[in-house]
Amino acid sequence: MAGNSAGNLLGLTREELEEWAVAHSQPRYRGRQLYRAVYARQQTDFAALTDLSKDFRQLLAANCSVRYPSIERRFESRDGAVRYLLALEDGQTVEAVYMPEEDRTTLCLSSQVGCAVDCRFCFSALLGLKRNLTAGEIVGEALAILADRPLPKQTRLNIVFMGMGEPLLNFVAMVKSVKLLSDPGGLAIPWRRITLSTVGIVPRINDLAREPVRPKLAISLNASTEEQRTALMPVNRKYPLRQLLAACRAYPLRPGERLTFEYVLIADFNDSPEDARRVAKLLRGLRAKVNLIPYNPGPELPYRPPALERVLAFQKVLADRELPAFIRISRGQDVQAACGQLRLAGPAGC
Ligand code: SAH
Repeated sequence: MAGNSAGNLLGLTREELEEWAVAHSQPRYRGRQLYRAVYARQQTDFAALTDLSKDFRQLLAANCSVRYPSIERRFESRDGAVRYLLALEDGQTVEAVYMPEEDRTTLCLSSQVGCAVDCRFCFSALLGLKRNLTAGEIVGEALAILADRPLPKQTRLNIVFMGMGEPLLNFVAMVKSVKLLSDPGGLAIPWRRITLSTVGIVPRINDLAREPVRPKLAISLNASTEEQRTALMPVNRKYPLRQLLAACRAYPLRPGERLTFEYVLIADFNDSPEDARRVAKLLRGLRAKVNLIPYNPGPELPYRPPALERVLAFQKVLADRELPAFIRISRGQDVQAACGQLRLAGPAGC
């Protein structure tokens, strides 16, 4: 596995770091000190850890390090978003997007190199799946960006797993990375500010429901009938809408929590008022909100974004049926950082 086996401590939990310390003839508490250094203080240089004893620092320097994915390129959008091309230790690359707003910043992270799910409208699908990311690499995406662009005080940090890949097809590493990101003694990003988006891998949704530490859940719905969804997302043959929505109905929500349904609006395909009425019917009775994402175009695919009035009309149908719906204009479109565009050839980076 890339990362840990090469002496990179990134991705190890508190317990694993304690074991690491013990395996190196150190007291357990030194593992906890390391955990705080890596995640709470985000240190990568052991020499700077002057509160650790000198012999321990020497042991660390001789045996391991903390290495984030390296920033290969940055593509800065006019709207403030930055698309990062990050290189992993085996030379594979992934992308992640930094999206600042007034009082909060959202990081959009990838879960896999490429993607095995063949959604017809998404450019990540064109790559195929290269490999899963490790938990250390996933957390490393966030840490690499935060080291490059430190978060101003008072700015809330949100994480969305909406980059390349299907997070629920990398379940174990995903759950571990959420544990690391949300642990109050480490990075301390509350679960409410972490959202995992899935095409709807039904058995893994059921597994996620049983995890003690889990993020919020978003489902890429994208269609209002089985037939339409299968045409856009062939995975719908394996996990049809009917089964997916049954899993959503059974999914245990925490107080105040809602499911998010993403709906990519494609002109003259899934953007009619009848589609909106069907979506409202499908989601009836669920504690849910809908994010409407006008399709982001790119080369080679036949789809087009809808006119704004179609988007507004769609939203109104949902709102009239008491289904909260938000229009999400994708950030970073000018640098191909928008939803579905990661891995399109971009303009020269800086
Ligand atoms: N594989 C997961 C995580 C990626 S999330 C998932 O699909 O949910 C990426 C989101 O962007 C999904 O909701 C997807 O439907 C949307 N998307 C993909 N291609 C898009 C495009 N060209 N325009 C707008 N949204 C797109």
